Formats: sequence, structure tokens, C-alpha cells
Amino acid sequence: MKINSPKDINIKKGSRVFLRCDFNVPLDEFGNITDDRRIKMALPTIKYLLDNDCKIVIGSHLGRPKGEFNEKYSLAPVAKRLSHLLDEEVILAKDVVGPDAKEKAKNLKDSQILLLENLRFDPRETKDDIEFAKELAEYGEYYINDAFGVSHRAHASVHAIATLYDECHKAAGFLLLKEINFFYKLLKNPVRPFVAVVGGSKVSGKLQALVNLLDKVDKMIIGGGMAFTFLKALGYNVGNSLVEDDLIDEAKKIMEKAKELGVKFYLPVDIVVADKFSEDSIVKYVTYQEIPDGWMGLDIGPASVRLFGEVLWDAQTILWNGPMGVYEMDKFSRGTFKISHEIARTHGIKVVGGGDTADAVARAGDSEEMTFISTGGGASLELLEGKKLPGIAALEISGDKICA
Ligand code: AMP
Repeated sequence: MKINSPKDINIKKGSRVFLRCDFNVPLDEFGNITDDRRIKMALPTIKYLLDNDCKIVIGSHLGRPKGEFNEKYSLAPVAKRLSHLLDEEVILAKDVVGPDAKEKAKNLKDSQILLLENLRFDPRETKDDIEFAKELAEYGEYYINDAFGVSHRAHASVHAIATLYDECHKAAGFLLLKEINFFYKLLKNPVRPFVAVVGGSKVSGKLQALVNLLDKVDKMIIGGGMAFTFLKALGYNVGNSLVEDDLIDEAKKIMEKAKELGVKFYLPVDIVVADKFSEDSIVKYVTYQEIPDGWMGLDIGPASVRLFGEVLWDAQTILWNGPMGVYEMDKFSRGTFKISHEIARTHGIKVVGGGDTADAVARAGDSEEMTFISTGGGASLELLEGKKLPGIAALEISGDKICA
């Protein structure tokens, strides 16, 4: 199976292209974009199409507007930012497949960009509705999907629409290809030693990914809230820390499997505990064997940072998904930021997945040091779970037809 890039399909100059992007960016309470990485990462594909004088119609979603127009989820701030970044006009349609969008698409000239309104203003988008997909497909002789962040969803603009194009008229954009290639290489042929650093709140959200990664990595480091289910499985008191009692057996199985496979499995050896889940809590540093009753672990301690730093030192490939503590609160951010620095200063391939982890890396000031920071949290997790993503599967083609 193969996926074409925009270059493989030989897009004719002046063609109409429907480009699916993931411009689902975070906004503050005033509607300002607080992180435009997803827009920036889509620029290579957009510029390639501009260079080829294409008439570009872009579709994206933003938030969860529940199938109807809602000013709060308008793509207007995105149109503005995209226009600034490209230094080109970006025309914003008032609707998705309504009269305004259709009229503006019809009048589009070569090298002009039309951004449709939020695709999820139409309830048919999330239902993978083929009739809606057909209407979207009228915007482009070619279909390009560059929206990795939503490729794990069978939605009309990422799945149904791709079935309407033949192999010489559909492709993955450069960002989507990059995401696929990084994760594919990571899972199929990593340079060793390969270390996975997994954190975040719960085991349940990442159980499948942990299991799938276990026979691929050389070492696994566990931090964050999920570490306490493992510590409890080992028989330690974890006080009021986040624990999933129903997953204690699974946690035991994972540790046994790691032993069987010869995978080195590391848990925090000291914990920052607090008397409550709050910035103004009282805080103590304790070893993993001494978490007192009534206290909760909210970050890894300095000894764990030292230990994990040693573990990471000879790594040639590192995958990081999930913060080491409640990094959103200053008091409990140190473990995550220090692990970010530890990962950043290694010399191997460093791949970061998950929205929170990408945010933590940015706050730690380490983004530039990472080899690749994925733009899709849920999608990257599903890739790590070994699942086939509908948006990617729909782009797969068989054979090696040369597109004239
Ligand atoms: P996830 O979406 O599973 O990657 O989880 C990310 C969230 O886990 C972040 O919002 C962190 O605040 C939270 N988290 C990390 N460590 C802990 C912990 N020890 N206790 C509770 N929540 C945590």
C-alpha cells in the first residue's frame, strides 16, 4: 500500500484543489489564537499549491459546534492568521456548502485561497455523510488531506470524500506524510536503544498504546498520574493519588510482560505530594515507599528526574507522550519541564506526541530541540495503539501508477 504526495499526482497548473487542514487551534476567551503551530505546519502544502497556481479551497473544523453555525467557532481568526503567515489574501466564506461559499469558489482565480467556514457547522460532517462529501468534492478536481489531527475520525471531509477520488487525484499533504513517516519508522524500525516516556493522567487512556509499545521499545519510563496504578500494583501505599483500581491487574501484566521481554521498566522513585489538588497546597517530597495517607502525588521528584535522565542518556530514539505531573500548576510542573530538558539534550530522534506534551515542551522552551512534535494527540495515540486510521486508510492506493 502506498500514499501519494502532492508531487506524485502531478497537479496541473491552475487546477482546483480541495485541501483538508486541521486548523483546530486553541483560542483564549477573547477569540485570540494562543498557539498557531497547526496553521504553520500546514504552510508547506499550501505554498506548494500556490506555487503551482492552484485555486485552493480549504476546509477545516474548529472545536465542537454541534452541527450548526456558532460565531464562537468561526474560522475568522484562522483566516486572518493564515493570511498574515502567507502574506496572501485568504477569502473566508460565510458558509460551508451554501450559496456564499459556492459563489466565492466559482470566482476563485489561480493562486487564490478560499477558506470555508467550520466544516462542523454542517451536521453531516461528523456523520461521514457521502452526499455532503460529494458537495465538498465539487470544490476540487484534486483532494489533499493534510489534517493529521483528525485522521482518526471517519468524518466526511477526511474519509467519505477520499473514496470519491481515484489514485491520481488524491494525496496526503506534506504534514500528514511527515506524521505518518515518523510514527511508522518509530514503530517498525527504530534506531536503538528506543525509549518510550509515557505519562498523563490515567492508565486507561493509554493502556492499548502501552501494550503495543512494549515489544517495540528497549526501555519504558512511566510518570504522571498513571504511575500510581503501577505503584499500587507493586503493593505500595499511594495515599489519595489518582489510581484506577480496576486496572491494577493490567498494570501487573504489563510489568510481567516487560520482564519477560527484557524491557527495562522504570517508575518514579520519589514523588511530590500535596495535601490537596491546588496551587496553594502544602507540598512534600517523599520516596515512592513513603507516600502518606491523605496526600496525593502530583509530580515526580528530583531523584526520579536524575534516574530518568540516566535512562535516557544513551537513547537513540525517544517517544514522549504525557506529562510527568500536573504541569499546568507551577508547583507541579518541575518534573515535566526537567524531563523535557533531559529529552531535549539527548542526541537521538526525539518525537513528541499529544497536545499536553507538546504544550509542556513549548512552555519548557524545548520545542526547537525536538526532532518532531506531532500535531495530533488522539491520532498519534491511535497510531501508537497499532490502529489503522480511517483518514489515512482512505488515501492508500495499490500499485505504482505514474500519474501523467
Ligand atoms: P493525558 O491527557 O492522559 O495525557 O493527561 C494529561 C493530564 O494529566 C494533564 O492535564 C496533567 O495535569 C495530568 N496529570 C499528570 N500527572 C498527574 C497526577 N500525578 N495526578 C493527576 N493528574 C495528573
